Amino acid sequence: MTETATTKEPNREPIKASEIDPKFKYELSRMHGSEKILRCFQCGTCTSDCPVARYSETYRPRTIIRMAQLGLRDRVLNSDTLWLCAACFTCTDRCPQDIEVASVIRVLRNLAAEKGCVPIVFKEQIASVLESGYAYKIPDLRIKKRETQGLPPLPKGNPASISKSLKGVKFLENIEKKSEQQ
Ligand code: SF4
Ligand code: SF4
Repeated sequence: MTETATTKEPNREPIKASEIDPKFKYELSRMHGSEKILRCFQCGTCTSDCPVARYSETYRPRTIIRMAQLGLRDRVLNSDTLWLCAACFTCTDRCPQDIEVASVIRVLRNLAAEKGCVPIVFKEQIASVLESGYAYKIPDLRIKKRETQGLPPLPKGNPASISKSLKGVKFLENIEKKSEQQ
């Protein structure tokens, strides 16, 4: 996933007092995975060790945590950069405050998905998974190339089972609801 293909510029407009939700950090501290968010003292270890931040000009886990602490709910949840995390858990392993940084990001993504704030590239992947069981359509050329090289056919995907799971977590409802509102 390239940054340019999936992310829009982060909102750098001056912060207005009306944007701040002082309850947000307490809400997060009651959710599984983000319980320790209040402990962050902005040392920057998560960002300096993050393999994604190394190659991105915008993705900074420390900034995400700080924005959440400050109550910038909409800015965090609307930010496409939230979706750049590769869930490698390096930050979680190295945080001196024992914060499960990767889990905080997961919690924030779940909240974003509830609002339908999911980058288009993931919506397209979901559409493809529901159609074929694969995250993207395998080109016919590649299938033929496998055959000519004597490779076995690709295993069949199971879109029905995936669809059942997604219904269980109301993923599709949330995404579709938001798409209708746009
Ligand atoms: S490593 Fe932990 S304490 Fe340091 S900035 Fe990241 S989340 Fe905060
Ligand atoms: S889990 Fe995400 S934020 Fe943490 S180091 Fe890996 S890519 Fe970076």
